[in-house]
Amino acid sequence: MSDAPNPAAPITQDVLTIPRKLPEGPVNLVGLTRAQLRDALIEAGTPEKQAKMRTGQIWQWIYQKGVRDFAEMTNLAKDYRSFLAERFVIEVPEVVSKQVSEDGTRKYLVRIAGGHEVEVVYIPEEDRGTLCVSSQVGCTLTCSFCHTGTQKLVRNLTAGEIVGQVMMARDDLGEWPKPGRNPKDETRLLSNIVLMGMGEPLYNFENVRDAMKIAMDPEGISLSRRRITLSTSGVVPEIARTAEEIGCLLAISFHATEDETRDKLVPINKRWNIETLLDALREYPKVSNSERITFEYVMLKGVNDTDDDAYRLLELIKGIPAKVNLIPFNEWPGAPYERSSNNRIRAFANIIYQAGYAAPIRTPRGEDILAACGQLKSATERARKSRKEIAQEAGL
Ligand code: SAH
Ligand code: SF4
Repeated sequence: MSDAPNPAAPITQDVLTIPRKLPEGPVNLVGLTRAQLRDALIEAGTPEKQAKMRTGQIWQWIYQKGVRDFAEMTNLAKDYRSFLAERFVIEVPEVVSKQVSEDGTRKYLVRIAGGHEVEVVYIPEEDRGTLCVSSQVGCTLTCSFCHTGTQKLVRNLTAGEIVGQVMMARDDLGEWPKPGRNPKDETRLLSNIVLMGMGEPLYNFENVRDAMKIAMDPEGISLSRRRITLSTSGVVPEIARTAEEIGCLLAISFHATEDETRDKLVPINKRWNIETLLDALREYPKVSNSERITFEYVMLKGVNDTDDDAYRLLELIKGIPAKVNLIPFNEWPGAPYERSSNNRIRAFANIIYQAGYAAPIRTPRGEDILAACGQLKSATERARKSRKEIAQEAGL
């Protein structure tokens, strides 16, 4: 492979983003930025002089208290409450089904506009509770080890559908704060967000950014930017923007130490190869003022799991504040790979660890309900690629 981008590589397709305002019916306030909320209120007839104050009040009801009914917004005049109720709604994605794993992991299937469905996973741990959020229905990229990548249908989620997943989970966990009580981040049930569900978040940049800004807003859900991790397969031009405009932690689906292998596993590598990606990553901590970048590395038997791979990985990440997250491959029906043995994974982890990097092995969570990394795919999306297509795309 040459270092130059390969313009012929089929990297992305056109992705439909539905407008926030459907042609008919009331506007959903969930997902509007503060500025957009203010504009929407003014457009509906709220006097400009009052708009800023009303925006702040409504914002707090929606994002701090979890209120969905305008009638409950008791610091607004009764007339104004009904004025709002006639023009707006406060809606989050609807839960179609919920499965709870033996280990406490919860997997939700939620329905969004157009009848599409996406999965959201809540992972309770001793010191945190992490919500794994989806950014697209399906994914235009076709990483050969990922179940989501085999789903044909793709649509970007709106900002409201993304932050709405967080609100839906807080509903289910019963975690809207009681008056006068606002628990600290570390004692919250939902204390962290990872953008590691379905989809490539950096192919839906604006909506992901707006949703995360809402989640961070101190007068609302109020999660620190250090408790939000965005995982990308390596959309290089958007990495600098992520640092500047979101400022959250970054994880990279790295998965291979040579372009030839990474081209097969993470085909976006044909567009932005390892060297180009690493250049972008070197800048990230400075611009975002964040600590370490997480290198995600899926362990595939006989593909990327040798000692040489581990040593090459160390060479590549030299100089980047990093941690390496080893992910035992999660199998799915028709997957063209196998998980590396536990001994192999431990030996690999040990080489990384000996060099001074944290190298945790990610324990698969919620395997019994197919909630683990890369297993997400809406069962209802029937259009799926055949085994042959999957194998061809993997270059097998
Ligand atoms: N599209 C983004 C985020 C979603 S995937 C990305 O690719 O980074 C979240 C993580 O799960 C990624 O590191 C992805 O490579 C990994 N993953 C995908 N399929 C997997 C599988 N079958 N087993 C283990 N990890 C997988
Ligand atoms: Fe998309 Fe990420 Fe899966 Fe690749 S690993 S197909 S980028 S969701």
